[in-house]
Amino acid sequence: MPTFVYPIAGILFGLIIGSFLATIIIRWPLGQSVVSGRSRCDSCEKQLRAIDLIPVISYLLRSGKCANCGVAIKSDHLIIELSAGLIGGLALFVAPGIDGMLGAIFGWLLLTLAALDAQHHWLPDRLSLLLAAIGLAASVAVDDPDFINRLIGGLVGFISLFLIGWGYQKLRGREGLGGGDPKLFAAIGCWLGWPALPLVILGAALIGILSAMTMQIRGQAISADSALPLGSFMAITAFPLWIAQIMIGGNLL
Ligand SMILES: [Zn+2]
Repeated sequence: MPTFVYPIAGILFGLIIGSFLATIIIRWPLGQSVVSGRSRCDSCEKQLRAIDLIPVISYLLRSGKCANCGVAIKSDHLIIELSAGLIGGLALFVAPGIDGMLGAIFGWLLLTLAALDAQHHWLPDRLSLLLAAIGLAASVAVDDPDFINRLIGGLVGFISLFLIGWGYQKLRGREGLGGGDPKLFAAIGCWLGWPALPLVILGAALIGILSAMTMQIRGQAISADSALPLGSFMAITAFPLWIAQIMIGGNLL
């Protein structure tokens, strides 16, 4: 197969996966079933027809409105679909083959976690655990990082953030880290290996500073109590780091 087929397949498959992920991201926090039941309009609950289920295209055809009730479909749908398409395309562009397919799965799960943390300050344990498990298992198919490196990444990732969170709570008497952050950091370590962990924190901190500055410029109040989604920032950092590791062909540090 010519290599250009891979990224194109990655984009198309990513758009379809993204449509499913958008449903999870919108319904899961509401306690609604994600897998059972057909796709429905989030507003009038009318079952969607096949023509309404084509990622991006359906949205554009309907100008972002439900065909039945005319209520605007959450633009989250479109953003998640496009992001998932981009992730699939990039992953299979830098690594056409099994590495790229695994990288796409990494990116899609990170996207889901980033969106849930940004909107609901919630990193579902089950999702982080799934991410960690696939990361460790991926060492069977991908040589680098090897299993031990990934395992250490998982352990060091969890313990380091857990201790920081625990220390902060002792010192300040309130929670400074979400309970899901150490688990997500561990899961990222299971994919990138332990040497990448400082870079994940560095990247997340930079994004955090930038978003705090953006909030300030927009006149939004920020204080020491403002909860910025560290999980989202780590997830957003981790996927480009995976790409960088693939392109360099090893650890960045
Ligand atoms: Zn509707």
